Amino acid sequence: MHRSRSTKIVATLGPATSSEERIRAIFAAGVDVFRLNFSHGTVDDHRARVDIIRALEAEFGRPIGVLADLQGPKIRVGTFVGDRAHLTPGQPFRLDMTKEPGTTKRAPLPHPEIFQAIQVGSTLLIDDGRIRLRVRKHSEDTIDTEVEIGGDVSNRKGVNVPDVLLPLSPLTPKDRRDLDSALELGVDWVALSFVQRAADIAELRKLVGDRAAIMAKMEKPGAIEHLDDILAITDGLMVARGDLGVELPPEDVPPIQKMMLRAARELGKPVVVATQMLDSMVHSPTPTRAEASDVATAVYDGADAVMLSAESASGDYPVEAVQMMNRILARVERDPVYRQINDASRHEPEATSADAISAAARQCAHTLSAAAIVTYTTSGSTTLRAARERPDVPILCLTPKMATARRLALVWGVHAAFAEDAHNFADMVQRARVMALQEKLARPDDRLVITAGVPFGTPGATNILRIARA
Ligand code: PGA
Ligand code: MN
Repeated sequence: MHRSRSTKIVATLGPATSSEERIRAIFAAGVDVFRLNFSHGTVDDHRARVDIIRALEAEFGRPIGVLADLQGPKIRVGTFVGDRAHLTPGQPFRLDMTKEPGTTKRAPLPHPEIFQAIQVGSTLLIDDGRIRLRVRKHSEDTIDTEVEIGGDVSNRKGVNVPDVLLPLSPLTPKDRRDLDSALELGVDWVALSFVQRAADIAELRKLVGDRAAIMAKMEKPGAIEHLDDILAITDGLMVARGDLGVELPPEDVPPIQKMMLRAARELGKPVVVATQMLDSMVHSPTPTRAEASDVATAVYDGADAVMLSAESASGDYPVEAVQMMNRILARVERDPVYRQINDASRHEPEATSADAISAAARQCAHTLSAAAIVTYTTSGSTTLRAARERPDVPILCLTPKMATARRLALVWGVHAAFAEDAHNFADMVQRARVMALQEKLARPDDRLVITAGVPFGTPGATNILRIARA
């Protein structure tokens, strides 16, 4: 299945998109990567979805990415007498470690780590920031707060503690179990929520090894301060604007989005912009104009991918949401201004042969109006460098590793296809030609710019560039 846009679509699966029919429909509408949200659903739910995705992949001969999103150390209040309580601004409210159901005066907070790390003056946000508490006093097992913004709190609502570095393991026991399941399902990416520092990613990497690529979800202010260290060791980044916009004022989110996109692109690591992109489409067949603009902005800013959450997982219009996203992406990519921005925001090649060849490949493709750049790669790293150049033509990635092809489904401009290593130059050109025609990226006689590494068949640095005709 051929897609003619460069920016990719990630869609979260959920109750609205669990049947074969629905997953097929949103794939046909444009999904490149499916996200399994391990905050919801059972392993059997996820397994059934992966089975459907892999069957579609085989049917259409197009590598599809699967991203497992681990819940991470999400903090929640306990339960309440009658399931809820109303808090009034100005009143005192205590959090404690008892198991007693909460009232309007107090509630259980079953997370001992917070009691150690909290400070006088810290903010506690409940239910996506709808309720705000200010810490006045604390002990080993109590936190006394004043309600600043009141409202109804109900059972097990999420709690955000934006201004404290919490001594939490980035992987809860549930995350470790989910990770085992996800790897057994053969997912391509693992995303970690509430990353606080680079060591969190290192810890995940130890468990994952090379079985999947790792995505850091940036949703804590502290993580933004450690962005460079996190970027150095993660494979990809998610601008997780949902929790980020709870922990920080909403006006801080747009500049941080732009800053993160720029930083990730400089390193040539894929970056996903997530959450509330077409939020009103959860209940409406059309988005607001502001939402259309938000998706477009992420594309103009150079995102590799944009993501749907509730819109595709539990909304009333999952297929329409993907179609709408597809149309917005295609429309922006037709805008000459988009090309100009892409050109102007390109980063200098680093002093490596892969970068030198990728920059040259882009230049050759433009000069010759080539139909595509074809990269031979095993690990995918050369293809990432080619994508970093943001060429005006599609990048056909030929790889003998299906895992590489699937991971690259997330990456801007890349059409990945499975192909065995070339044996010699003639073979290299021939395979590139056949695959470019088959993938409908070129017509007979179009020019192709091919990059590869010799000696053939030994994974290593890309060191040649060849111009050929399809
Ligand atoms: P979530 O992460 O949907 O898992 O909360 C994304 C976000 O917070 O934006
Ligand atoms: Mn989140």
